[in-house]
Amino acid sequence: MAKDILVYVLHYDGAFNKNSLGAVSEGGRLAGELGGECHAIVVGDKSGLPDELCATVGKWGASKVFRVEAPEGLAQPVVDAMAHVISENGHGYALFGGGLLGFEIGAGLCARLDAGVTMEVTSVAVEDGKLVAERPILQDSSISRSRYKSDVGVIIGRLNAFEAAEGDGGSAEVVDVDVQISDYSTHAKMVQRGEQRGADVNIEDADILVAGGRGLGKAESFKLCEDLAEALGGAVAATRAVVDAGWYPYAAQIGQTGKSVAPKLYLAAGISGAIQHKVGMQGSENIVAINKDSNAPIFEFADLGIIGDLNKVLPKLTEAVKAKKAS
Ligand SMILES: Cc1cc2nc3c(=O)[nH]c(=O)nc-3n(C[C@H](O)[C@H](O)[C@H](O)COP(=O)(O)OP(=O)(O)OC[C@H]3O[C@@H](n4cnc5c(N)ncnc54)[C@H](O)[C@@H]3O)c2cc1C
Repeated sequence: MAKDILVYVLHYDGAFNKNSLGAVSEGGRLAGELGGECHAIVVGDKSGLPDELCATVGKWGASKVFRVEAPEGLAQPVVDAMAHVISENGHGYALFGGGLLGFEIGAGLCARLDAGVTMEVTSVAVEDGKLVAERPILQDSSISRSRYKSDVGVIIGRLNAFEAAEGDGGSAEVVDVDVQISDYSTHAKMVQRGEQRGADVNIEDADILVAGGRGLGKAESFKLCEDLAEALGGAVAATRAVVDAGWYPYAAQIGQTGKSVAPKLYLAAGISGAIQHKVGMQGSENIVAINKDSNAPIFEFADLGIIGDLNKVLPKLTEAVKAKKAS
């Protein structure tokens, strides 16, 4: 298998996504061990991807960045672009940081290249000159290891599984590539890019998350979480129970069928701590739980537990944070 690794780097509003930069760091490390090179690919309107910005991915470990002018934010044009670059340059692996777009592009790329894929990868090792992808299975109780038989192996990380570590790599060489985007890849059009309620701050990048569960009692009570998140400079997350109830948008759902996050602080209010929720937030550095039931399972893995009524505790916390900031 070839030893070079191609990493997709997502950008928005003139900045690269932290999760993608984590994948570049991991790609750089792995390519170094394999004796190959790590390259990045960026897709979008060239005016939003100036040379100076593109070259910065070198700091995270890519020696070269392929820039493709094509519609951004949609999966199919990126599949076309990556398939073209891989076929022309003979990369052995494609690596993604995760997230919904990464899953969609990665899946399309495997179909296009007849490649093997492993999703939700939390760690990658080099064995006998090849990559081995590891992913937790059976609700994270076991680890499955995947080796690739295909010419190209696709690895899609679990969100934030790879740490973005700035190295001393310097500038990456920027290479413009003309790609013929297929007709069928342009059928979907980006009509509008906007923010959902509760998603003003990207929850995957936020250092602080205030998560609300069914214990909030009603949709309107999310205001308590929003107020505290605003005071702390964080974002709001939710359990599936409240998303299913229509109290909060799916974009904020954490867990097995939602997002995986690893903030510095995860404050869970009115959340029981079901295993399907836990798998999406157990990587948080500090977990604080507010629950009126002292036997709630969340207290088994919380770093700090507050037994009490969230309707009383949340406003008091918000008040205290504001007062501390003002002093
Ligand atoms: C296949 C599958 C996939 C799933 N995927 C996910 C997923 O991705 N994410 C996810 O979150 N769930 C998921 N679930 C659902 C999961 O099993 C739980 O049902 C869900 O997480 C429970 O949400 P909750 O904690 O908000 O609600 P509950 O379990 O109802 O807990 C509410 C908690 O609030 C407390 N409470 C009540 N009133 C107050 C108050 N006034 N003050 C303080 N505390 C109070 C209660 O004591 C209780 O502990 C999945 C389930 C299945 C079967």
